[in-house]
Amino acid sequence: MTQTTASSVGSTAPTTANAVGAASPTAALAPLTIERRAIGADDVRIDIHFCGICHSDIHFARGEWGEIPYPAIPGHEIAGVVAEVGANVTKFKAGDRVGVGCMVNSCRECENCKNGLEQYCLKGNTQTYGSIDRDGTVTYGGYSDHVVVNQDFVLNIPDGLPLEKAAPLLCAGITTYSPLHHWQAGPGKQVAVVGLGGLGHMAVKFAKAMGAEVTVLSQSLRKQQDGLKLGADHYYATSDEATFEALAGRFDLIINTVSAQLDMGAFLGLVKTDGALVNVGAPGEPLPVPVFSLLMQRRTFAGSGIGSIAETQEMLDFCAEHGITAEIEVIGADRVNEAWERVLSSDVRYRFVIDNSTL
Ligand code: NAP
Ligand code: ZN
Repeated sequence: MTQTTASSVGSTAPTTANAVGAASPTAALAPLTIERRAIGADDVRIDIHFCGICHSDIHFARGEWGEIPYPAIPGHEIAGVVAEVGANVTKFKAGDRVGVGCMVNSCRECENCKNGLEQYCLKGNTQTYGSIDRDGTVTYGGYSDHVVVNQDFVLNIPDGLPLEKAAPLLCAGITTYSPLHHWQAGPGKQVAVVGLGGLGHMAVKFAKAMGAEVTVLSQSLRKQQDGLKLGADHYYATSDEATFEALAGRFDLIINTVSAQLDMGAFLGLVKTDGALVNVGAPGEPLPVPVFSLLMQRRTFAGSGIGSIAETQEMLDFCAEHGITAEIEVIGADRVNEAWERVLSSDVRYRFVIDNSTL
């Protein structure tokens, strides 16, 4: 952690932040300013250095998950440096390298919050963007130059991880680490990752580091060399029907990261008896599941959402230990619209990260 001498204590007035956001579901992203709340006693103000672009940002801002408040300021892969802390903050000080992921609060009282599963808060966690915060204000994400967050939802970024390469770990990282860990990817396990995008490329790295044999199932063989370099043992194109015959019943665990509808029956056919297909992709439309694909082999079809704060810190520490970071393309804020189009056409290698100093 970076040591500094300054340890300023909370400003009493709200601040204005430069941001990039969408004014409507169909509007291009454009510069605008937003207000950040004054630093409360338990808050940390973070100067955002980098913010990853997640496909969720696009689903959200374009209203694909339902109605949202506008302007929409996406961004939940935030990496930066603490600028100021509130009077009660003990976990952080000015100068610390920190991250913020997909949530910035939860009720802290329900069974799940008490059990350290605040991502599954029974009253709904407060999302980093587009949520109504506990103080009644709408949350705005990391496509902005600073953010104010309760200290309990701020993560330490270990020294060995450059901030720009660590930013995507805050969503793409934890969202794939958590199910791989929960479903025990490890030595002797056959793990497949569907979709080699932001989440997919992190899933490959984690599954490999956990000791599993890893297969990528991509739409084509276009990214095969990359996939093998990232750590995959095998790479198949799902556009080729022979893939589904060759791999029938092969996998203990499949992580589906695809942002669109897929034929779940075909992919469930690749799961072993008692294996699981875990969906982390979040298209707006339902994913129909043919029940016979499940019951004939006692297969599980499951979902998984991000991870807890403790597990996110565990994942960041695992990354530092294993030298894992995201493969990124850093862009200025003026290229966000172009980056979104490239994400939509599966032309991302493998995460765009905004340099927030350009805001
Ligand atoms: P991404 O970078 O766009 O990657 C998605 C990949 O899916 C693409 O690179 C592509 O891989 C494949 N794909 C895209 N469209 C497809 C289609 N029509 N048919 C088949 N394959 C297709 O997106 P991401 O940022 O990784 O996010 C992926 C999904 O996870 C999004 O829906 C996002 O909202 C969701 N998400 C969920 C959580 C959670 O908590 N569960 C957290 C974060 C994100 P190939 O080119 O290799 O085929
Ligand atoms: Zn995300």
